[in-house]
Amino acid sequence: MTAVDLGLPTVLGAAPVRAEGVGGKPSAAVEGVPTSGPLVDRFGRVHRDLRISLTDRCSLRCTYCMPADGVPWLAKDTLLTTDELVRLAAVAVGLGITEVRLTGGEPLLRPDVVDVVARITALRCADGTPPEVSLTTNALRLPVLAAPLAEAGLTRVNVSLDTLRADRFHALTRRDRLDDTLAGIAAADAAGFRPLKLNAVAMRGVNDDELVDLVRFAADRGYEMRFIEQMPLDAGHTWDRRTMVTGPEILEHLAEAFTLTELPGRGSAPAERWLVDGGPATVGVIASVTRSFCGACDRTRLTADGQIRNCLFAREESDLRTAMREGATDEELADRWRIATLGKLPGHGIDDPSFLQPTRPMSAIGG
Ligand code: SAM
Ligand code: SF4
Repeated sequence: MTAVDLGLPTVLGAAPVRAEGVGGKPSAAVEGVPTSGPLVDRFGRVHRDLRISLTDRCSLRCTYCMPADGVPWLAKDTLLTTDELVRLAAVAVGLGITEVRLTGGEPLLRPDVVDVVARITALRCADGTPPEVSLTTNALRLPVLAAPLAEAGLTRVNVSLDTLRADRFHALTRRDRLDDTLAGIAAADAAGFRPLKLNAVAMRGVNDDELVDLVRFAADRGYEMRFIEQMPLDAGHTWDRRTMVTGPEILEHLAEAFTLTELPGRGSAPAERWLVDGGPATVGVIASVTRSFCGACDRTRLTADGQIRNCLFAREESDLRTAMREGATDEELADRWRIATLGKLPGHGIDDPSFLQPTRPMSAIGG
């Protein structure tokens, strides 16, 4: 991330600015709002990475993400069409976004996903290169879609794999589909997606005795295993700080089996990375709660129903869908995006006593 000095406050806990202009309209009259240039917040963080949630629906029901019965799905007429979604991606690229990650819910459930990838990779950043497009998925549809996605320009894939044991997978995702996930990972490998990263949410008494096995599985195949601290984003509100497996605990487990050498140069990436037994295998830890990386965050988010969120944990959204459907120009949409970015808080504040979990669950925000 490149920091731009706006002469703006850098003090943690500063009051948020409003995400909308006066009367709900973006307004150049809102004091201090830049009406040109990239997406910069009040702390000088320049945003280059866009996460787009393609759908809030999913084929699994991971306990840390969704209740068994799912959640009330977004109404169909609120979902962005392919054209609307690509238009907003183009606005974002015009605002300096260079990386686009497609997520969800399960992004591969969206029927137009190959078309979306092809149309976003056809966009051009300021230097003439296409934005780098990647995907986070549960892999169930990759056996069918990996090859067409690669052809459409997708370069990288992250796959969620919390366990290698079929009975645990069934209990954890409430679906008996470990073999399908493994087939999806093999398909991603065959399609040439690199680096191929596997993500596991570490959970006490659920899969925390499998961390070493997961690293071996990934390392043997040339993939990177990454462990994520569980965050308070599940629709069932089951998260408990006291039972969360922390980043330091994850490393302690791994250090019993491997020699870990920390790799420098994390930049704005959420994962801290280590060489495993001298390399080339690596392992990552995303300690979002205990070692927050908010200070270097360069991510902005677009939900499947066209809302801008400046943080996973944001409690405000900016409605680009309605603005677009009411005839806003690209420049007006860009202006709204800049304003929404300015309102970004310095950090997620999970440890603050006043912390409130966002109303939207992770599956409807886009992880
Ligand atoms: N369905 C896709 C998948 O599972 O990869 C993409 C969406 S999912 C919401 C994106 C990522 O968020 C996954 O790696 C998942 O493990 C992670 N995730 C979901 N709920 C989480 C939570 N409460 N805490 C930490 N990570 C979570
Ligand atoms: Fe679906 Fe991904 Fe959530 Fe699991 S983590 S329920 S695969 S959206």
